[in-house]
Amino acid sequence: MSLLVVGSVAYDALESPYGKVERTLGGAATYFSVSAAFFTHVKLVAIVGDDFDPKDEAMLRKRSIDVEGLERANGKCFFWAGRYSENLNERVTLATELNVFADFKPRLPVNYCDSKYVFLANIAPDLQRDVLHQVKCKPALVAMDTMNYWIERTNAELRETLKHVDVLMINDSETRQLSNEHNLLRAARHIFKMGPSTLVVKRGEYGAMLVDKHGMFCVPAFPLEEPHDPTGAGDSFAGGFMGYLASAKSKSDAALRRAMVFGSVLGSFAVERFGLDRLLTLKRSEIHARARHFAKLTQFKL
Ligand code: AMP
Repeated sequence: MSLLVVGSVAYDALESPYGKVERTLGGAATYFSVSAAFFTHVKLVAIVGDDFDPKDEAMLRKRSIDVEGLERANGKCFFWAGRYSENLNERVTLATELNVFADFKPRLPVNYCDSKYVFLANIAPDLQRDVLHQVKCKPALVAMDTMNYWIERTNAELRETLKHVDVLMINDSETRQLSNEHNLLRAARHIFKMGPSTLVVKRGEYGAMLVDKHGMFCVPAFPLEEPHDPTGAGDSFAGGFMGYLASAKSKSDAALRRAMVFGSVLGSFAVERFGLDRLLTLKRSEIHARARHFAKLTQFKL
């Protein structure tokens, strides 16, 4: 089942107490695609500049990520630089250079227009809506991410996009900001009135929580002794979540619960090394072994 993603493909400069990289492939849509491609075929919509390394394109193709929707433009790729605190919980953005991303007008290749699963990664809400309008048959599931920047600056556009979305996947502070509610369950009720029927709150080292009309489900973050770089953890979570659902062709409560676990599994691998390094050496057998480890970690008898 094909899964479409629109979002950033970028070069990142990353600094954490565990080291530093000057320039490495990143971007929300990249982390999402690489993670989701362990489960299903992915169609990528994004823009890159003429500095996009052919080796990076080859890496995406090798993973059966369709790059027909990866537009090339004159100029430089989106560039982002960030530095993490000692405990990795806080980060400061040192640079955001939009470059070719500034004039991005997503255009879907014809064979993308019947995608059944759609993920709108963190970009301007009117671009997210524009992509959705180009998908001709009604998708089985549409999920999206956003961030404080869009909540503050383009709230009306964001509200319009939310009307067309099934699953909103954001972090806890974004949930509180969007809903004006501190309590996450009350926040979920508020967000359901905006359009989504499911809210997935990503809570970093505290795991993730799904709330929908059936109730809620919580998954821990996999305990790691030495996480190196949290960049892209949320996007990798989304990739594992959506990739699993697309492969399962189901939106049942049981499938959503398994999707939460696969999301947390991919997020946990993403943070083990800098940038995409760990995801690029990851094997399917390791994903399934860690999912089984999650089952053990959370199992108990009453
Ligand atoms: P995350 O750690 O989930 O926030 O994702 C980090 C990735 O998102 C990095 O690889 C960045 O290149 C990319 N990124 C950072 N800021 C933005 C932005 N404003 N819009 C789109 N992508 C971004």
